[in-house]
Amino acid sequence: MFKLAGVVLILSVLVSENSALITRAQWGARTSKSVSKFSGQIPYVVIHHTYEPAVCLTTEDCIAAMQYIQDLHMDQNGWGDIGYSFAVGGDGEIYEGRGWNVVGAHAPGYNSKSVGIVFIGDYRTDLPSFKMLKAAVDFIAAGVTTGLIAPDYKLIGHRQAKATECPGDRLFSEIITWDHWTASPTPN
Ligand SMILES: [Zn+2]
Repeated sequence: MFKLAGVVLILSVLVSENSALITRAQWGARTSKSVSKFSGQIPYVVIHHTYEPAVCLTTEDCIAAMQYIQDLHMDQNGWGDIGYSFAVGGDGEIYEGRGWNVVGAHAPGYNSKSVGIVFIGDYRTDLPSFKMLKAAVDFIAAGVTTGLIAPDYKLIGHRQAKATECPGDRLFSEIITWDHWTASPTPN
């Protein structure tokens, strides 16, 4: 197990180099109250929007958004950490949440078998920018290339896991056109 964790760590670093990942240290994340890992290639990608906070356009504002979300999830929801695995900022950067192969708090039935990616902002009527969509697509592709995400992974929107408007009507109508989207996911 130790060796496997080491490999995953190295792969995480490679992915972060490819995708200009903003690490937890870089956005000033608080220490997680609990970390639970799951092993193996990740079979699901779950897409979210934050709704609030609104889209952030500068790295400074995106760092503030990440801190806001983490505070909300830890202090109001009582969770051990920010719920999502990663976030996409309006600055086109990927922000590290719980990270790879860490059990999340974002989609019931999928938290121990997915990477949860949230687009920062409200995408009920507007699409995320091309820069944001490209960052997410490239990040998922890099995850597959490095073996962290299963090559035959399935992609869903949060609303397919529970009754919620997330990831917003407009963004949901976009992701259902993506290659790996599935209409019939299988939760735990
Ligand atoms: Zn969501």
